[in-house]
Amino acid sequence: MNLMPAQCLLLHRDVFNAMLGSLGQIQHVWRFEALRRVPILAQLTPAQRSSLCSAFKQESFKAGKRIVKQGEQGDRFYIVESGIVGVFKDGSEMPLVKLGPTSYFGELALLRNDRRAASVVCLTNVTVLSLNRAGFDELLGPLQQIMQSQASAYDAVTGNKLGSQVKLEDLKRHGVLGTGGFGRVLLVSHGGKYYALKCMSKAYVMESGLQDHVKRERDVMLELQCPFIVNLLATFKDNYTIYMLMEAIMGGELFTYLQKRRRPLSESHARFYAACVIQAFEYLQESHVVYRDLKPENLLINVDGYLKVTDFGFAKKMASGGKTYTLCGTPEYLAPELVTQTGHNHAADWWAVGVLIFELVTGRPPFYDDDRVKMFKKICDVKYSPPPNFSEELKDLIRRLLVRKPAMRLGAQKNGAADVKSHPWFRGFNWPAFERQQVQPPYVPKVKHAPDICPHSRRAVADWSI
Ligand code: ADP
Ligand code: MG
Repeated sequence: MNLMPAQCLLLHRDVFNAMLGSLGQIQHVWRFEALRRVPILAQLTPAQRSSLCSAFKQESFKAGKRIVKQGEQGDRFYIVESGIVGVFKDGSEMPLVKLGPTSYFGELALLRNDRRAASVVCLTNVTVLSLNRAGFDELLGPLQQIMQSQASAYDAVTGNKLGSQVKLEDLKRHGVLGTGGFGRVLLVSHGGKYYALKCMSKAYVMESGLQDHVKRERDVMLELQCPFIVNLLATFKDNYTIYMLMEAIMGGELFTYLQKRRRPLSESHARFYAACVIQAFEYLQESHVVYRDLKPENLLINVDGYLKVTDFGFAKKMASGGKTYTLCGTPEYLAPELVTQTGHNHAADWWAVGVLIFELVTGRPPFYDDDRVKMFKKICDVKYSPPPNFSEELKDLIRRLLVRKPAMRLGAQKNGAADVKSHPWFRGFNWPAFERQQVQPPYVPKVKHAPDICPHSRRAVADWSI
């Protein structure tokens, strides 16, 4: 770089302070704004966030520098302000997770009073805000339960599946998170960490002839590892019940959220939720898994506002290019080839994405009819009318997803999910940031300690007569 003569304007500190307030104050306001964008801190009151501003210390690190070392006793909590860090387990060359601005790390050792479970290394130049143990306990106390429940997902990502360490009888039961066709899902805890325990009555499963479904649900879920899909950590059984221990997603069902709002979502709000499902379905398609039960009841809102897909009761691993014939799913969301039982594959999931987006923006699914036979006829004829307030881009996206011929559907063609992601309805949507979960969600749930018991309307059916 060539050096050259330059002119500077000079402002004396007193004049600067008189005009703009003290630098400390500006920094405080600026940091307050920055902390407002950190999803987990959205749970705090403005007064609590304001105390945090003064307690956090800003630190800068060069690319390649290690901030946290696996095995060391931890005494600080960090929020990434700028740049990207990677989380590494000893011996791993690739980071297990990459974290960018508004993500946090370092909480595990503080919550569990334990040594660092992994190392955190800067992948770019990084600035972080850090907080010591006293500040963490005093100022972030209200968030520790949420962090605990997120930590269970983190354990799974770092390969610490819980099967052998956790016994069914050691799980402390706290309440009901949800009810489904097979039984209840309970909020449980173990060693200070929270989980969801899905309990399925063996008698019901046997009577309904659904043994294969339950086995498939377990096998498929254990294999999956995606931030947009609920993580299954362990399974148990006793004389009467089959249990699945999962990460607890504390913000409730998207279904309940929609019911409580009483009005449909804006297109941009729906776009964010559709993006979560598209991420999950892209991963499932690459893993050769068909899901077959998309609906707002099976989409859970995480404490950070992102959705996770749950309930893999109808999911199935398929040979690539294969078709399957079982009639299953939820009537409103069935693709024509499911209704006619002519064989289906992952294209049926992309149809369901079209139904979901329509329902999110209008409040009802496109083919809804009280008379189920009429509804199935409408599905097979692809007869629906988009409301006039839909943008042209949304009309076009729905038209390309709700296509009678599975092979012609967006998402089911050779470019897969990439075609959906590059559709004009997503113009300007920052997919790379979204994949790192760094896009601000449209809604962050206020998580209460005792979760709501969720009302249900539509039940999935494994088989029925048309
Ligand atoms: P079913 O197969 O009987 O429909 P689901 O797996 O969908 O059962 O679970 C029923 C309900 O329980 C969900 O709709 C949701 O409200 C709640 N639930 C399920 N899994 C979790 C979880 N991991 N965290 C929080 N709530 C959950
Ligand atoms: Mg369900």
